[in-house]
Order: sequence, then structure tokens, then C-alpha cells
Amino acid sequence: MQNSNPPPNGPILIWFRKDLRLDDNHALHASVQSGRGVIPVYIREPAENGTGPLGAAQAWWLHHSLHALSESLSNLGSSLLLLTGKPQDVFARLVVETGASGIYWNRRYDPDGIGVDGALKNRLGDIGMTVKSFAGQILHEPARWKTGSGTPYRVYTPFWRALEASGEPDAPLDAPTQIPAPADWPKSEKLADWNLLPAKPDWAETFREVWTPGEAAALERLQDFIDETLDGYKANRDLPARDGTSRLSPHLALGEISPARIWHATRNLKDVPVEDIVTFRKELVWRDFSYHLLFHNPDLPRENLNRRYDRFEWADDGDAFKLWTKGRTGYPIVDAGMRQLWRHGTMHNRVRMIAASFLIKDLLIDWRRGEAWFRDTLVDADPASNAASWQWVAGSGADASPFFRVFNPILQGEKFDPDGTYVKTFVPELQDMPTKFVHRPFEAPATVLTGAGVTLGETYPKPLVDHAKARDRALAAYGNVKDAA
Ligand code: FAD
Repeated sequence: MQNSNPPPNGPILIWFRKDLRLDDNHALHASVQSGRGVIPVYIREPAENGTGPLGAAQAWWLHHSLHALSESLSNLGSSLLLLTGKPQDVFARLVVETGASGIYWNRRYDPDGIGVDGALKNRLGDIGMTVKSFAGQILHEPARWKTGSGTPYRVYTPFWRALEASGEPDAPLDAPTQIPAPADWPKSEKLADWNLLPAKPDWAETFREVWTPGEAAALERLQDFIDETLDGYKANRDLPARDGTSRLSPHLALGEISPARIWHATRNLKDVPVEDIVTFRKELVWRDFSYHLLFHNPDLPRENLNRRYDRFEWADDGDAFKLWTKGRTGYPIVDAGMRQLWRHGTMHNRVRMIAASFLIKDLLIDWRRGEAWFRDTLVDADPASNAASWQWVAGSGADASPFFRVFNPILQGEKFDPDGTYVKTFVPELQDMPTKFVHRPFEAPATVLTGAGVTLGETYPKPLVDHAKARDRALAAYGNVKDAA
């Protein structure tokens, strides 16, 4: 990088990454406070940079999120510069072109991102730039938390207790009301040229039925959740047919809203039972816990945290995997979840657990294949939460569900979707199936099937595996690794 001897009053470059918001944005706040011109930048980093491949569903979201951020900045007399390349190359050019004196960003905690940022910080520092990074993507910095014996946490409950005992996260900062412009604006690329949206076919059309990306929509969603859904969260959050959760995860994944803003919005709510608030906050802290795990175990998305699972003999069944992705396993709750994922780029948390368990334990397919599929299809795909959750279900992760706890897709369906409303929403071919059989159509008498217009193997698939036998097979496979060192 060229030594540019930056002018002391040159503008500040603020690098937006997974913080596509004006509210509670510490880097933006500091750049405005500096009193210099501010140049907001978003860089489309090459996939080989390792900062996490962008899944197709999240690319759709990113397009709309960048558009929204760009509009918000314009309303404050600013602009969003869109550039492509390795950050070190992009900044080398920009520093010369703009005479910038500093670069600010909010920290990210995925290992590849940390690598890129660390190297860049050194190089920019070497040429006299002021480089500052700030917290804000998660509630608490992951490096800060250690168990009594000085090691990172691997069990959630003591992690939660430590965070709880440390007091409230810092209060969020309000969005700036004006952003000083630089004397000149560098040329930006055009968002439309990035081709983030699917074209032919536009498979994301159905996403619009349920999602509105962007910071304004995130803040509105938070308010609606507090007003209408938080009361009763503890009881409702496990029922996929209810609108019982916040649905904030895709907004959080790209940083359209900060977790501190969410946390503080749940303070001093006199009309909401404490147990609902605490249960919700604990979920929010699972996100921090996932980042804590990823930060201290950079291979979390790739390697079993518990290395004994390295010897697990996975089945290499491409056909079964394909049927799982298409929601054609013959188990209605699994199929409904996988079709919700395809239609809306999301899946209810309870059903994510059931569908993941089915892939890993009933089909004996490596959790990494499921993790990759979710990464590509979820609008909330998150390197920490996705990997940690898949390892949790597989039993190979930290504080994981034990492998021998195999979810029964029929009983789970009957417990959490008792009248089959969720199944019928996403598996319309079971629309007329009586409640008694909606989670077990393969046990329905012929007259019931005929009455419901279902022909197994034709209008709806026969079960891909017999769950009881699949469970035995999974436990036998687990038996081969459970005593390994
Ligand atoms: P709420 O119930 O309203 O919870 C509030 C917030 O807490 C969420 O937005 C989320 O940020 C966080 N949260 C809730 N549950 C968890 C959890 N178990 N782990 C980590 N954070 C949590 N979540 C993602 O954000 N991205 C993923 O890629 C992802 N992949 C998953 C894969 C599997 C196999 C499983 C079982 C879970 C996964 N989750 C993931 C966690 C969880 O399913 C979603 O965060 C949740 O469904 C989002 O809905 P919500 O915003 O309405 O959650």
C-alpha cells in the first residue's frame, strides 16, 4: 500500500459490513463525531477472501438492505459507495483518491473476517491512517468471557449467568441526524450490476410475502414484537403455526438492527411477564454464545467440535439428501419445514431442529451438508448460529443435544403442531387429512386417504425411511464412536 501521508483533516471512510444500519452504529457515530467529511463504503469482497460465501437467499436480502441503507444515507445528505475487490486493494485506491485520514469499522467475529481485518489494520496503520474498530455486532465481546479456570465457555448456562451477572449491555446510540459530506465523492458501482437478485426464475418472489428487508422494517418489526408477541413468548415460541417469535434473525444477520437495541427495548416493560422477557433474552444470548464458540473454535463450520465424531460413518446418499431438500421425505413436519425454507427463506426454530435431526439421524447424512444447504437457503444464514446449531443437533458440538436423543418427527409434529395447521400451510396436498393422521399419513386407513384425496407415493411421498428402524441404525452408528477417545 502506497504511503500517502494522509492529510490530518481528510475524510473518514466508514466501512459497512454486517452493520447495515444508522442506529446504534458505533463506527458511524465516531466518524460523524470526528467533525470531518464521512464517506460510507460497502465492499463486495471476493468469495476466496474467506469472509463467508454469501448464500443465494441472503444475497436477495443484501440487495434490498443495501438499497435501504443507501436511501437512508441519501436522506442525510450522504451516499453509499459500492465497490468490489479485496479490501486492502479497494482501500489502497480510495485512500489516495479521497485523501482520507482514517478508516472506521465495526468488528466482525468470524475467523476469516478477523484475519482480513487484522492484516488491513496493520497495513493502514503503517501508512499513518487512523484505523479504529468498534463493538456492536453482538452483545458482548467474545474474547472477554472466560470460565473460572480461564478457558472459553463450552456450556451455555454458565455463559448466560456470567453475562447476566455482568449487568446490562451498553445502551444503544441513536442514529445521527446529519452526516457531513466530503468535498468530492468517488465513483460508485451500481447495485443492480451486482446481480444479487435471482432473475430467471425469480424464486425469491415468495419471500416478499413475509419479509421486508432494511433497517426501518427491522425497527418496526421490533416494535410490533414488543407490542403484540413478547407477552406469551415463552409458551408460544415453540409452536410453528403461531406468529410467536420476533422474526428478527435476518435483520440481525446483516446488522440492520443491533442486539443492544433489541435488548434495551425489552427493559422496563411493566405489562409483560418477566419470564417472557428472560426467555427471549436467553435466545438472544444463544446468538452471542454461538459467536463465542466460533471465535474460540474457528473451524466450527467445518470440523466436529467433539473430535470423536470424526470417525462417524456417514451415509453418502445423494438421493435421500435431494428429497430432504425438496421436502419430500414423507414425514409431514419435516417436509413442511423444508418447503417453508424454500418458499420463505426461513424455518421455525423448532422445525429446524426436527428437520436437522432427521437429516443427521434418520438419514445418517453428515451435518455439514445440511449446514451448507441452510447457509444457501436461509435469509438469516449466520456463520456462528448455523454452524453451532447444526453441531448442537448432531451431538458433536458444545453443550450439544446428546446423539442418542433422536427426535421422533411424528411425535414432535403432534406435540408442536397439534392440529396440523403448520403442515397444511406448506404441504397443501395434506389439506384435507384428518388431524389424527396429519403427522402420520402412512398409518391412515385406505378410506381416510381416499377421503382426503391422498395417494401415497403419488400425491404425497411414502416415508423415505421407517423412523423406528432408522433410529436403531443411528444408535448403532453412534455406538461405534461414543467410546472413542
Ligand atoms: P426469536 O425466538 O425471536 O429469538 C430472538 C433472536 O435470538 C433470534 O433472532 C436469533 O438472533 C437469536 N436466537 C434464537 N434462537 C437461537 C439459537 N438457537 N441459536 C442462536 N441464536 C438464536 N439462527 C440464525 O440466526 N441463523 C442461522 O443460520 C441459524 N441456523 C440454524 C440452524 C439450525 C439447524 C437450528 C436448529 C437453528 C438455527 N438458528 C439460526 C437458530 C434459530 O432457529 C433462529 O435464530 C430463529 O429461528 C430465528 O427466529 P426469530 O428471530 O423469530 O427468533
